[in-house]
Amino acid sequence: MLDSFGRRINYVRISVTDRCDLRCKYCMPQTNPFFYKKKDILTLTNLKKISEALIKLGIKKIRITGGEPLIRKDIIEYIKFLGSKKINNEIDELLLTTNGTQLSQYSESLFKYGVRRINVSLDSLISEKFNFITNGGLLEKVLEGIFSIKKKGIEVKINTVLIKNFNEDEIINLVKWCGEHNFKLSFIEIMPIGDVPISRNKQYLPVSNAKEIINKELKLEPSSLKSPGPSNYYYCKSLDTHIGFISPISNHFCRTCNRIRVTSNGIIYPCLGDNNSVDLNPFLNEQDDKKLIKILQKLIYTKPEKHFFNINEKSYIKKRYMNTTGG
Ligand code: SAM
Ligand code: SF4
Repeated sequence: MLDSFGRRINYVRISVTDRCDLRCKYCMPQTNPFFYKKKDILTLTNLKKISEALIKLGIKKIRITGGEPLIRKDIIEYIKFLGSKKINNEIDELLLTTNGTQLSQYSESLFKYGVRRINVSLDSLISEKFNFITNGGLLEKVLEGIFSIKKKGIEVKINTVLIKNFNEDEIINLVKWCGEHNFKLSFIEIMPIGDVPISRNKQYLPVSNAKEIINKELKLEPSSLKSPGPSNYYYCKSLDTHIGFISPISNHFCRTCNRIRVTSNGIIYPCLGDNNSVDLNPFLNEQDDKKLIKILQKLIYTKPEKHFFNINEKSYIKKRYMNTTGG
């Protein structure tokens, strides 16, 4: 489906839960985080209904996210369902974004049902710092998970959010570590989504700083890798690795945006940075999917041209957090 700006919308990120076993300091409020009522979380039946309707409308790539998607009890059932869509060529890609804590126990099922690429979020390779930023996460458990999926033959992509005065001193180490293990790596600018105690300006480190740090020590060259997504890739010859830079703040990529998002309580957002959304729940109990399809078509068509947040306080999205919208 094309939106009103001629962009082909073929990618959805579906959040299957807003709950998480970690509490990353830049993602969620630190005290009393808001969670949807349990009764409002989409059932497996409704997750399937929405996925099928979106597939009918031309969605070819589905990424499961959260919260932490792998803590949802019936997650493998849902992945199995989407895996069957992949086998039937109804979708091209079935992807997952995870914090990695549960990967060891699920690596086998994930591979079995067709997941071939997983994004793992990792902001530090130092146990104490990882524990600090995630509010209690165990780095060793995440690393164990990462290596268990690698062993199964699933491609690992590490996503690191750049955080000023926290991980700029680890940029080189992360690049070398990913090069050594043959993991793709993308650095991402922090987004002002959700009100957290520290000013986003104080957390914000532009990707240009990271590029400069890497270029000084390891040299970056233009990369042949052209991602359809927002990552702008560079090649590091000494490590034979491609490094992506995602810059929602310093250089937004809205012109080529092909994605929409569904939250775990059934709200669809055509743009992460815009509060325009539609509640799909009233259309999920109908006999057929006609009304659901119609509302989805309308929403996709009206996807905003671009997001308007930047690092100035006035543009922040304060009341919506990444764990609820889905990263
Ligand atoms: N729990 C899973 C994880 O951490 O990968 C999936 C959900 S999480 C919300 C998805 C991604 O959003 C993670 O890579 C996380 O680092 C990123 N994220 C969360 N809050 C962010 C923010 N304010 N700015 C930029 N990225 C953010
Ligand atoms: Fe949880 Fe992912 Fe948010 Fe961290 S970034 S709190 S792991 S949802």
